[in-house]
Amino acid sequence: MSTVRTRFAPSPTGYMHIGNLRTALYGYLYARKNGGRFVLRIEDTDQERYVADACEVIFSTLKQCGLEWDEGPDKDGGCGPYVQSERRDIYMQYALRLVESGAAYYCFCSDEELEKRREEMTAQGITYKYDKKCLAIPLAEARRRAEAGEPFTIRQNVPEHGSVTYTDAVFGSITVDCADLDDMVLIKTDGLPTYNFANVVDDHLMGITHVMRGSEYLSSTPKYTLLYKAFGWEEPVYVHLPLIMKDQHNKLSKRNGDASYQDLIAKGFLSDAVLNYIALLGWNPGTNQEIFTPQELISAFDISGISKSPALFDPVKLRWMNGEYIKALPFEEFLKMAEPWLDKSVAKDRYDYGKVAELLHTRVEVLSDIPGMVEFLPQVAPHDTELYLHKKFKLTKEMARAALELSRQELAKLEVFDSASIHDCLISAAANGGYKNGQILWPVRVALSGLQSTPGGAVELADILGREETLARIDGAIAKLSE
Ligand code: GLU
Repeated sequence: MSTVRTRFAPSPTGYMHIGNLRTALYGYLYARKNGGRFVLRIEDTDQERYVADACEVIFSTLKQCGLEWDEGPDKDGGCGPYVQSERRDIYMQYALRLVESGAAYYCFCSDEELEKRREEMTAQGITYKYDKKCLAIPLAEARRRAEAGEPFTIRQNVPEHGSVTYTDAVFGSITVDCADLDDMVLIKTDGLPTYNFANVVDDHLMGITHVMRGSEYLSSTPKYTLLYKAFGWEEPVYVHLPLIMKDQHNKLSKRNGDASYQDLIAKGFLSDAVLNYIALLGWNPGTNQEIFTPQELISAFDISGISKSPALFDPVKLRWMNGEYIKALPFEEFLKMAEPWLDKSVAKDRYDYGKVAELLHTRVEVLSDIPGMVEFLPQVAPHDTELYLHKKFKLTKEMARAALELSRQELAKLEVFDSASIHDCLISAAANGGYKNGQILWPVRVALSGLQSTPGGAVELADILGREETLARIDGAIAKLSE
């Protein structure tokens, strides 16, 4: 068996769409699992769409995700160049080979002419398809016109009859009638190839054995099959990946404002968590395992687990998974990650970030939640006195006020104001005052935060806020409950 060679062939758009990253991931996993090679190829022949620095986004994202390529623009593996715009002459040479054999032809129709015919056909309710007008031009004449500088394209000459069949490893056998296929442009007037042509030439010349890409290419693949046949080349294994949906009717798409990899990272998702989550978007490991290390993904991944049904991008599940990854981080690492987010809400010189981060470590799902979760530290959240009522603790406002008065009195006596002494103080205040623990801890926590729920309870909050602020907030609550 030949060595497995997969490729990731992104167009430089300036962002990494979740679907693209999944394609890269699957190609990488499959190559690694089979001791193969993972090739990175930049598809920049659509010069209008070229975004400067966009290649950098591709390189840095793949590196950040640990998807190291074995061959690519910066790593020669003998099949370069790996940037399509640097391969212009290669495509032309192969297109001319097809022209020679009759599998392609020069076309001199202008955009205006083509548009006019398209409109006419559409008006008649006919699906547009190029009418092969230029196929009638004798080759010698076409060559002469091209050499004289007349703008031309090169089109694929799709047989008028018969059908094409190819097999996809996920979607199975697919057959289409040639009559339904358009004579697509292979070389554009600017001399550059279309994706449709370049992908075939490059996948062949780069020895790609498994082509993994989005299912939007399923319907174009028969035309690629015809090209492989015309060249007499062996086709790669096609592995089209299921669509990623954001709901029942809509595809996930950056154009619709859906998150790209960069957006997710900026929001405080961890790269490993995102990668783990998208590995499961359309691939089923066949077990209940959901959390995978990159190494585990490599071992478990297989094409047979890829589903053809669309995968649903579930932000709630992604958040959960991210939370699991955060919990699993060593505390020091979490603290480092949390710091810039804490800076947005609380002053570093006023609070012990270590203590705050300890409260957050097991509770945060996404780092960008942090500023909101600690907003009550610099200032008690505006709240209503109803919040002091508690059914289970049978707390009335009067009781809450009395409990707060007692707590304040006892806390004020503390010589050392740390977590252990605050805890003992409040618990013995409850015992001595004839309260249940909750009847003391609930109102104190509400007084300190103004919130129904907080990361951490009364003791932790008092410890973080410090003696002065704790007593001031309890005083504030007593005053409020006395109104
Ligand atoms: N350049 C294509 C894209 O970015 C890749 C398609 C493929 O993987 O063949 O959509």
